[in-house]
Amino acid sequence: MADAARACLREVFGHNAFRAGQADAVDAVLHGRDALVVLPTGGGKSLCYQVPAVVMARRGQGATVVISPLIALMRDQVEALVDKGVQAAALNSHQEPEQRREILGRMRRGELELLYVSPERAMMKHFTDLLGRLPIAALAIDEAHCVSQWGHDFRPEYLRLGELRGATAAPIIALTATATPRVRTEIQRALGLRKPAEVLGSFARPNLALSCHSLRTDAMRIEATVTALREAGLDDRKAPGRAIVYCSTRKKTQTVHKALKSAGFTAGYYHAGRTKLARERAQQAFDAGRTKVLIATNAFGMGIDYEDVRLLVHFQLPGSLEAYYQEAGRAGRDGKPARCLLLHGTSDIMTQRRLMGQPEAGRAARAHHEHREHSLQLLVDYARGARCRQQVLCAHFTGSLEALPTCGRCDVCTGTVTAPAEPPKAERKAPAAAVLDAEQQRDARAQVLALMNAIPKPLGKMTLVRGLRGSKAKNVRAAKLHTLEQHGALSQYDEPTVTALIEQLAREKVLVPRGRKYPTLWLAERATPTRGGARRKTSGGRGTSELARQLENYRRRTARKLKWKPYHVFHRKVVLAVARAQPQSTADLALIAGLAEAKIERFGEDILALVREFG
Ligand code: ADP
Ligand code: ZN
Repeated sequence: MADAARACLREVFGHNAFRAGQADAVDAVLHGRDALVVLPTGGGKSLCYQVPAVVMARRGQGATVVISPLIALMRDQVEALVDKGVQAAALNSHQEPEQRREILGRMRRGELELLYVSPERAMMKHFTDLLGRLPIAALAIDEAHCVSQWGHDFRPEYLRLGELRGATAAPIIALTATATPRVRTEIQRALGLRKPAEVLGSFARPNLALSCHSLRTDAMRIEATVTALREAGLDDRKAPGRAIVYCSTRKKTQTVHKALKSAGFTAGYYHAGRTKLARERAQQAFDAGRTKVLIATNAFGMGIDYEDVRLLVHFQLPGSLEAYYQEAGRAGRDGKPARCLLLHGTSDIMTQRRLMGQPEAGRAARAHHEHREHSLQLLVDYARGARCRQQVLCAHFTGSLEALPTCGRCDVCTGTVTAPAEPPKAERKAPAAAVLDAEQQRDARAQVLALMNAIPKPLGKMTLVRGLRGSKAKNVRAAKLHTLEQHGALSQYDEPTVTALIEQLAREKVLVPRGRKYPTLWLAERATPTRGGARRKTSGGRGTSELARQLENYRRRTARKLKWKPYHVFHRKVVLAVARAQPQSTADLALIAGLAEAKIERFGEDILALVREFG
């Protein structure tokens, strides 16, 4: 079995060995098991389904159907496969009906080994019918994180892919490059994966030396770039290696290009505003090594794969940690040491906001906008942070902070981190707090809110922090925090991290100060303190069932409008929990199991309005 896969890898794809993770994924699919594969971009996800596809097709088990959201990428993949002698084709909406019929004919006759389809096409009735009738060896779902409403790539049609589970008994292999544990769970549930083999690749790039420098002016940034280019030996035209300098705007690529040329470097620039010819020339000169440095916007990226990028500079802050990791990851592909330099300043935040534009009308667009804002904030925190850069990135992508070794190469590990030139006032005194990813934030916030709901009267900030961290100090015991379920709920985080979280909740006015002389904190939306603890409204009777009925109507109506299943809006158990708890605020909603932050953003206001009207 594994031998057939290895032979196929060698003979068809021309590689000697599977990379970490690939073998497990291939094995699972060949054994008829579902699989959830998380590998970083460039990690080799395609082979995880292409190898089993070829092996199974050549055994007469049928074709593998690949669902992929990007038509351009599909075309490239199909071409590459056909070049290798694999029977592959793609179905999309841009084709003539004639062409589509021909492809489906080949599918029916069992001639195809891989068929790529867009998600829209995959969900058309005649296609799902076809899936049920033909021998399908496996289903591969690329960019599976598109099912996540929390992710920046959410695609409603991806939610419907879960229906394919019912249409075929073939194993499903879902693939993605970005998956916090929360997204992984969402994928598994939405696609109906059955006990999938989970393959989680490493996001560490040990040969990359990552560093961040806060530099205000262009002149300072040019100087830093020039120094780094010299240190990488790129002022010598004959030396090996090359550098990419990313800028956020087209104009900036030109400014930087001019400056680097006059500093004596061979350089070209690339952005989507140039003519096709000019872009091709810039890329060819860089390919051939006639220019050592390419200054580009993120338009330069798709499908580029240089082995020997020794220096990768972000001249400005990109839009998110994901974008940063993906771009920086283009350095050192050959495994030899390479440097990634992130230059940033507060003006970059403005630039990114300008690029983001104003949020459009509608709740979904607003939620999307907030998500982008949040992603940007995470990157800003990363750049200003004081934790090993590799650790923070890996933690972000895998969702765990534990057991990650420090890299020993980044500016933090080597003690060469430069202090931000313009720290905001509040941050100047605060010791470094860990950067929590979206899911960790949500969970940690829920714990704080649960504790705040359980205590009978306002408490001081440090008492709360210590209680959450599981301390049994005198003031913690005096407040009886050690008797609560939330005592020690945040013990995995250090004190600065929990303090920062509480302060953030205070900035957001979720927690508000009480008292002057000894300021204490209290939930903004919670009623006045009561003796004896939890307030929780326990209303029963007719009101509750009317509210439940209204919520259920709302759930179904929304599902119809969005063309979703009702449980994609939220589960039935949420209806019952809301009817029971009668939440009065967003903070209360966050305590209800099954209402993730993205759902609250989308549906929270409506739910609260129903509670007010019918509760
Ligand atoms: P991803 O989809 O994860 O971004 P790809 O599937 O496009 O990555 O693969 C990235 C690159 O790695 C491709 O050039 C591919 O040929 C190469 N690659 C993948 N697997 C192997 C392997 N086992 N050995 C050598 N090269 C590989
Ligand atoms: Zn480090």
